[in-house]
Amino acid sequence: MKAMLLTGPGIPLTLENVADPTPGPGEAVARVLACGAGLTVHHARAGRIKVDYPRILGHEITGEIVATGAGVGALAPGDGVTAYFYLSCGHCRWCSINRETLCDNFGGYVGREVDGGYAEYIKLPARSFVKIPEGLDWRSNAAETAVVCDAIATPLKVTRKARLMPTDTVAVFGAGGGLGVHMLKVARWAHARRVIAVEVMASKLEACVESGADATIDASAGRVTEQLMTLTAGKGVDVVIDFVSSAATLEAAMPALAKGGRLVTLGGHGSAFRANPGEMLRKEIELLGSRYASREEVVESLELVARGELWPLVTEKRPLAEAEAIHERLDQGALTGRAVLMVS
Ligand SMILES: [Zn+2]
Repeated sequence: MKAMLLTGPGIPLTLENVADPTPGPGEAVARVLACGAGLTVHHARAGRIKVDYPRILGHEITGEIVATGAGVGALAPGDGVTAYFYLSCGHCRWCSINRETLCDNFGGYVGREVDGGYAEYIKLPARSFVKIPEGLDWRSNAAETAVVCDAIATPLKVTRKARLMPTDTVAVFGAGGGLGVHMLKVARWAHARRVIAVEVMASKLEACVESGADATIDASAGRVTEQLMTLTAGKGVDVVIDFVSSAATLEAAMPALAKGGRLVTLGGHGSAFRANPGEMLRKEIELLGSRYASREEVVESLELVARGELWPLVTEKRPLAEAEAIHERLDQGALTGRAVLMVS
């Protein structure tokens, strides 16, 4: 099969012919129709996350099962599937309560510890595939369907972590990024009273409004806390969702929170930041971490899209062989919404 291979950290992906995967016991193989390309994937491409080389990247797939190994009863050839990004065990106490992102036997990620979707076929443990529900025409909408498992599911989980309510004003930091615009959409879907997009690239603010933001803040000149306080008449925002999560953004978010405010951090640089415990106490501030989504939330996200309640924003589609062109744009932060590789 044809596959885009990552042969070393930071080395451009190259189109190669590699052996077709065959399923072992408990595994299945899907033909890949489309595979999303977001920042999570780009961190591996850029060498910021090391993998065993050569590696096939990509985890946001639309696929069609073509073969199953021994003992696989839940999948059959012809089934439309996407993938659950985390290689969770499925039986520990965290997996058993729909918190697979905390799996005690965590095995890594699709497209990092095992080969992913930048190829004509993908082989995974059968439980890593998630069947696409009836009502979602995945063949005709392969690009949009592919990204739901992360771009919609991750924000859906955030609305629950933050206990987002119709009375809440929400600010999304990094709102113009691939996950950010989807967070705006999902916050709007969740009936947030007001959604504020915070973004350093002013060129992305229009797309933020189109994705559901009521107001925007150009963060390139700083003063984000002050701008949030002005927009909320000094009250502050109820929820900040920070996809950047640098010390600077977290320290801008904290003092912009209203009483009872929640700050959700995702991704980020792992750098420490300063918070005022007196202010946290006085306002009963909650600081929350949220990573990816449960398998159940992936299924729910697919169902929401199947019902037309949400629809992903795919702004770029390219053939598999042109993956590098997309990763160049990801590297520059030039993409708004999701980019998708069309495989077959
Ligand atoms: Zn587990």
